[in-house]
Amino acid sequence: MKPIQLISPVDGRVYAERMPLSRDAAEAAVARAKAAQKGWAARPLEERIALVKAGVKILNDMKDVVVEELAWQMGRPTRFGGEYGGVNARTDYMSEIAAESLAPKVIEDSNAFRRYLAREPVGVVFIVAPWNYPYLTTINTLVPALIAGNTVILKHASQTLLVGERLAEAFHAGGVPQDVFQNVVLDHATTEHLIGAKSFGFVNFTGSVGGGAAIERAAAGTFTGLGLELGGKDPGYVRADANLDAAVDTLMDGAMYNAGQCCCGIERIYVHESLYDAFVEKAVAWVKGLTLGNPFDAATTIGPMANARFAKVVRDQIAEAVAMGAKPMIDPSHFPANDGGAYLAPQILTNVNHKMRVMMEESFGPVVGIMKVKDDAEAIALMNDSPYGLTASIWTQDYDTAAAIGAQIETGTIFMNRADYLDPALCWTGCKDTGRGTSLSYLGFLSLTRPKSYHLKKV
Ligand code: NAP
Repeated sequence: MKPIQLISPVDGRVYAERMPLSRDAAEAAVARAKAAQKGWAARPLEERIALVKAGVKILNDMKDVVVEELAWQMGRPTRFGGEYGGVNARTDYMSEIAAESLAPKVIEDSNAFRRYLAREPVGVVFIVAPWNYPYLTTINTLVPALIAGNTVILKHASQTLLVGERLAEAFHAGGVPQDVFQNVVLDHATTEHLIGAKSFGFVNFTGSVGGGAAIERAAAGTFTGLGLELGGKDPGYVRADANLDAAVDTLMDGAMYNAGQCCCGIERIYVHESLYDAFVEKAVAWVKGLTLGNPFDAATTIGPMANARFAKVVRDQIAEAVAMGAKPMIDPSHFPANDGGAYLAPQILTNVNHKMRVMMEESFGPVVGIMKVKDDAEAIALMNDSPYGLTASIWTQDYDTAAAIGAQIETGTIFMNRADYLDPALCWTGCKDTGRGTSLSYLGFLSLTRPKSYHLKKV
């Protein structure tokens, strides 16, 4: 077996390397998780919540090291301070709603019958996590899975190998037993082998469409529950009645934050013809205000992409679109750190169309195409002309119109006058190639538990 290497996008160094577990060692980890599950589930809910929260509190205390490691691992500028806002808000919310979400639903409690629907943990939950928001994407399942009485095995992305170690360190220090939450380093073959061997009660996979398809194939015939949170190509639509400045600010941030590496990042924008020129002018000025550079530099607002390989995908999409007639609005020389490798100048493309990959395939980088539209109908048709469906962001002053347009869009979430945001009270879900299943909200607890019917007759 070969070690898994984490190449830092900051300077190309091997920042960490770990040996993946052998098949035997991986199976032994699953056996420990299975053995620990019933005892964990038997603890009172309040105790499980307290231990999970203690782990998250310790993770907060590790902020300095976590933020520095995030920069080395995936290029996130240190000025943004990690992912703590979302990690804490999601932990608190899921803790708050746990008792109600997991409580039995009593249908009848009379002299003759007691009939109710209970929720049971699914057993061992397997999390396969991506590097782009490495703490948040893990917390979304880790916290509710443990609270619901499952044990958890986490396999993190090779690009963010250390994140799983930090989470395990924090949760174990907070009192979650070692076998209740295990971080493992696995190669793809062992990951798929474990899934195919019916090791898990539920698998949450967050990542690419190709990866999700591989996980679905690995699970075929095992009847394992799957949550597949995959790619996106999320649109923004700016209506004629939009607040232009707010739209530019939020949509461009949604396109460029985290160097465009957000599953729900804005990747295409449709603007009503009456606002189009002004929108493009302001968007270009907005992007020119970014500072591309070393993530440890306090002035840096956009760091390198997580890997030179990912930047190449975006460069290729841009070059191909330009060859097909797209107009690049940003001169890359405005960003001297642009190096042909992981450091990529942000770009806005106009004169784009849906024949171009940059408007149809996930870019997952700091590029956005902007198109002019004449009315809602054209915007809706273009927004739906996509293999993906994660979020869509509509800019208008009119709630009813936003809801009516929302009803016609094939997507998991509709935003009005906001974008690139995750509300833990609303479920995170997608349609089409963006995947299946739900996380967060009370529905997230339903994915991580199974129903059990109690039909008790008194004789
Ligand atoms: P990825 O390459 O699919 O990897 C995701 C995780 O799956 C990693 O841990 C990876 O391990 C593992 N993996 C990939 N293929 C596998 C296979 N065949 N067998 C077993 N394990 C496999 O995705 P990524 O590049 O890390 O993440 C970016 C993608 O995630 C984007 O498409 C983004 O849109 C999507 N995403 C979606 C959401 C959402 O909520 N819908 C949220 C965040 C990200 P290695 O790293 O070791 O290869």
